[in-house]
Amino acid sequence: MTRVFDEDLSARFATRTIHAGQRPDPTTGAIMPPIYQTSTFVQDALGVNKGYEYARGTNPTRQALERNVAALEGGRHGFAFSSGMGCLDSLMKLFKAGDHIVCGENVYGGTFRLFDRILRHFGLAFTFVDTRDPQRIEEAITASTVALLVETPTNPLMRITDLAAAGDIARRRGILLIVDNTFATPAFQRPLEFGAHVVYHSSTKYLNGHSDMVGGIAVVLEDSLAEQIQFIANAAGAVPGPMDAWLTLRGTKTLALRMKAHDANGRRVAEWLANRWGAERVIYPGLPTHPQHELAKRQMSGFGGMISVETGSKERAATILGRTRVYALAESLGGVESLISHPASMTHASVPPERRAEMGITDGLIRLSTGVEDVDDLIADLEQAFAGL
Ligand SMILES: *Cc1c(COP(=O)(O)O)cnc(C)c1O
Repeated sequence: MTRVFDEDLSARFATRTIHAGQRPDPTTGAIMPPIYQTSTFVQDALGVNKGYEYARGTNPTRQALERNVAALEGGRHGFAFSSGMGCLDSLMKLFKAGDHIVCGENVYGGTFRLFDRILRHFGLAFTFVDTRDPQRIEEAITASTVALLVETPTNPLMRITDLAAAGDIARRRGILLIVDNTFATPAFQRPLEFGAHVVYHSSTKYLNGHSDMVGGIAVVLEDSLAEQIQFIANAAGAVPGPMDAWLTLRGTKTLALRMKAHDANGRRVAEWLANRWGAERVIYPGLPTHPQHELAKRQMSGFGGMISVETGSKERAATILGRTRVYALAESLGGVESLISHPASMTHASVPPERRAEMGITDGLIRLSTGVEDVDDLIADLEQAFAGL
């Protein structure tokens, strides 16, 4: 009997989320890949093994996850890491002192911190630019530029980078295009199709989707790049344990379902906020009033549950954050439960205040990660939180 496994990329997206990279366990027929909670694998004879030696290099549970997400992104090789930051740090080990990287200015705060506070001291140079404008990207590229890193949509301002234009620049200038696809997920956006060389995620967020682990994953198409990343993953060792890999694999099985629900709720909540608070203060790429709505529609097939709102002052933001009862006050995003946060003092606290101001992350900005609860309960929650403001 033939079944839909990792080889079969003709299967549609929702089918791949459930089956790609996995096959029933050969010894028992277990439909879920077992959690191979082991550090080492016994060898049959000197130099003869079953494809596994030591779990830093490969682990079958982790491999199932890597093949699954690679198939979802339309790539050929996946590499799971212990966190999104561990993933990015490992990717940066592709480069060496003297190399220059052009990076979006509105990236995740931890990305900026890793580059500015750690990797800069190892001789890597970074230029942060507004990647909404392809011209600015072109102008930032120098003879020592090796890569362009973009996050789209960005966290928390939901700015969109034109992936086709970025892919074209990377190809013409002979540099790598690396895309953080955490917000959109492959359910809505597949950067490799636009010419990206590496797509990566904080799988802590939508990919796992249940707020019960921390992880990262990178996917590539090219074999030579895959070999280098496999070498780094094993040599530097920022790999996840099998339990976290298994949890993520369980999460991705419902990715198509969950993203549809996040998107439907996100649209309803964004529309309600736009009516209640003014469309110019609600930042959501799915709203026709978003300045890059047309571009977002061209490269994304959905917009998810991330919405930012300019409340006008820190006091007002604090009032709303203190009042919500369904939206929980917490960092992170992308889980089934709705969360609300204050980027300036939470996710982007590591970004210097003057940089935050330049970027537009004001003290009045709040960010909603809209979950998959009943949308009427979410709107009722916001209605009472915004009351009198
Ligand atoms: C959370 C996040 C990261 C960092 O990932 P961790 O799993 O927390 O290490 C990177 N990029 C984006 C867009 C994120 O939201």
